[in-house]
Amino acid sequence: MAFISDTLSRIQPSATIAATQKARDLKAQGRDVIGLGAGEPDFDTPDNIKDAAIEAIRRGETKYTAVDGIPELKQAICDKFKRENGLTYEPAQAFVAPGGKPILFNAMIATLNPGDEVIIPAPYWVSYPDIVALAGGTPVPVSATIENNFKLTAADLEAAITPKTKWLIFNSPSNPSGAAYSHDELKALTDVLVRHSHVWVLTDDMYEHLVYDDFEFVTPAQVEPKLYDRTLTMNGVSKAYAMTGWRIGYCAGPVELIKAMTKVQSQSTSNPTSISQWAAVEALNGTQDFIPERAAVFKERRDLVVSMLNQATGLKCPTPEGAFYVYPSCEGLIGKKTPDGKVIESDEDFAIALIEAEGVSVVHGAAFGLSPFFRISYATSTEALTEACERIQRFCGSLS
Ligand code: GLU
Repeated sequence: MAFISDTLSRIQPSATIAATQKARDLKAQGRDVIGLGAGEPDFDTPDNIKDAAIEAIRRGETKYTAVDGIPELKQAICDKFKRENGLTYEPAQAFVAPGGKPILFNAMIATLNPGDEVIIPAPYWVSYPDIVALAGGTPVPVSATIENNFKLTAADLEAAITPKTKWLIFNSPSNPSGAAYSHDELKALTDVLVRHSHVWVLTDDMYEHLVYDDFEFVTPAQVEPKLYDRTLTMNGVSKAYAMTGWRIGYCAGPVELIKAMTKVQSQSTSNPTSISQWAAVEALNGTQDFIPERAAVFKERRDLVVSMLNQATGLKCPTPEGAFYVYPSCEGLIGKKTPDGKVIESDEDFAIALIEAEGVSVVHGAAFGLSPFFRISYATSTEALTEACERIQRFCGSLS
């Protein structure tokens, strides 16, 4: 339609949102669907956080707030970065938005000029390249291989940097692969960045608390203090505190960048919801005890899913360090036929045939920039996961 902008033709609807909605729709029609597409914890928001929100409503905290967040939350964010990441920020360096996506939007709109490049390791979260494109920049995907456990190498990062590179978007643990960089793996990348002083880092640390087997989470500005002045450290309450619907993302970075992002947000959403901000204050300042308890449950589910998928004909599933995703390869099934004669030519064909045959919803790898793979979110009950993996095994076994 001529009325719609050219920019919009360069982006796709979010594949993760689409898969989640499709599973919801099929269920509403009465189909027996197990949704492994949605990347959100199945746990509920803890009661102390809900209570803080209810109290905020009762106190009348129902009006506009400062565009970049209430002072109490900005202080809680600074305290969190100090306590958990050893990073010192002042409240003027902290910023709150209605979710992680608006943080990315604000940062990209505030900094990108046409032709500016943003390096995005693939597989990447579906929204990174499209947000860059919407902001007028050029996404530069750089593939990380399954052989390297889906982690970007220093040599590939170095080769991708040009005079036009403005940002590296870094995400560990990764959505969709679950791969997380150890201190030394990350240091290899920050060593490259130190040599290219025009490149900034936006680090999406959303899955920080979901790491397993004694893995130690690290973030770029912590590993390499020389990058502190050109790093935007982003996080949020969605995953760690099971608060996806509350829509609170936050970040901290250089004051000039934060001011520019505040300018953008003042012309778009204004402040994030006042009530959600008070809930986030409690999330960050209150008890953190349930986080390791929930992580232990996720670890068990990860082990179950990895083991069951590796028993499926034609699938290969590495064991990731974190998040609640696995990213198995379906290369061994490409070219095979379903019992009703459809040829699986791509990971998208695989995902479509799987939901049609067995009612299991996953997200195809092409959406994340690395094929032929698919993403499974194991943030669902052990019972549903076991059933879903049995169905996947049956589906793979039915291909010839
Ligand atoms: N981060 C989640 C996912 O990847 C939420 C959906 C989205 O915003 O993409 O599934």
